[in-house]
Amino acid sequence: MKLLEDKILAEGIAESENILKVDSFINHQVDPELMKKMGKDIAEHYKGKGITRIATIESSGIAPALMAAEALGVPLVILKKQPSKILNHDLYQTVVTSYTKGTSYELTISAKYISENDHILIVDDFLANGEAATGAIRLIRKAHATIAGVSVLIEKAFQPGREKLEEQGIDVYSLARVSRLDKGVIEFVKED
Ligand code: 5GP
Repeated sequence: MKLLEDKILAEGIAESENILKVDSFINHQVDPELMKKMGKDIAEHYKGKGITRIATIESSGIAPALMAAEALGVPLVILKKQPSKILNHDLYQTVVTSYTKGTSYELTISAKYISENDHILIVDDFLANGEAATGAIRLIRKAHATIAGVSVLIEKAFQPGREKLEEQGIDVYSLARVSRLDKGVIEFVKED
């Protein structure tokens, strides 16, 4: 999506070879107009695919996921990061390893908001190593729902997330694909 690529070039900060900061329009301050257009683009890609709910992981995925959910006319379910100790029969839980923080967390969804009749689209801000998306997929499958795909705003194409997901037969749709980062350098995959 040209609009997003231009915004990343104008305001994104490549902190290192691995980390892209987009705090001024996605992760800290949010640009609602851009978010709305990105949500529409995602919805357009998945229109007619029988999606019943969108799922995202709190908290950075909520803004794009909400916009996509509104455009598709389906509810948004937020997968919550919660402590593991609670043993509750009405919850599905799985452990996810966080790439940016180098920590693990428990991902949780209430059985009230997902069922075997659901066909779910996962939306997040970034795809890097695919740990978050893989955790979300595992959780959704525990509830016997099916996965329509994983859609992200920014894919770091030099990291193995897409490959990992596609190996499992998951459709991956990203709005911007970054091919290289370095201090002050941001390059995109050239799509033909
Ligand atoms: P993964 O699980 O695919 O390795 O990482 C995905 C999660 O890590 C995203 O939800 C995002 O919050 C965070 N993340 C990964 N790489 C970056 C990055 O370069 N910049 C920012 N802001 N977040 C990232």
